[in-house]
Amino acid sequence: MDAFEKLVLKYEKQGYKRENKKSLKYGVRYFFRLRKGLLGWDQGAYIYSPNANSSTESMREFLTDYEKYCDEDDGYPKKGLFFCYDCDEKLFKDLKLAMIRDKDLRNTIKLAVSTDKDKSKNRPSKAITPKENRGQRDIRRAFAQTQKNEILFQQDGKCAECHKKLDPRTVEFDHKEPWASGGRTVTINGRALCVGCHKIISHRHRLKQVDK
Ligand SMILES: [Zn+2]
Repeated sequence: MDAFEKLVLKYEKQGYKRENKKSLKYGVRYFFRLRKGLLGWDQGAYIYSPNANSSTESMREFLTDYEKYCDEDDGYPKKGLFFCYDCDEKLFKDLKLAMIRDKDLRNTIKLAVSTDKDKSKNRPSKAITPKENRGQRDIRRAFAQTQKNEILFQQDGKCAECHKKLDPRTVEFDHKEPWASGGRTVTINGRALCVGCHKIISHRHRLKQVDK
């Protein structure tokens, strides 16, 4: 039994019944319904499962799909569960914040990450990171490719400063709150800049440092 099947079984034990399955571009959506008593409210739950390892695209598709279905008022409360393998939880949270404007709706979405041991074998060991580097700053300074894609998507491929169309070959990624002052390497703290704007901004930061 794989991790997803285990999750489904867990829900079925709670009284949820699988009602339908829909194929999406990057995965599958299952709908479960819980009937509470004869006259009680129905409760719905969506479980999304990606085809392969979760990517920005699959998560974005799931979140959009979920928001769409929750907008359709069919009378009973729903909640969403996103089941992913090798998932970047931070990215998921950033995406959720960026995409789902309704706070109540956002809070109904949970992420379930696979605990499949075989899949975690290939992950780099956390022990490699020296202890003294932990704490205030994020260990990783460079944005991951998935984060870069997300930032570019959010900015519609335009420079965050001058709003001119960015050249993908020269685009530079910058921390809004500088990494050196504890700014985190997360999508919401990132921005894409053209070479010229990045130079001006970095120069401004350096002047600020000198003033201190
Ligand atoms: Zn610019």
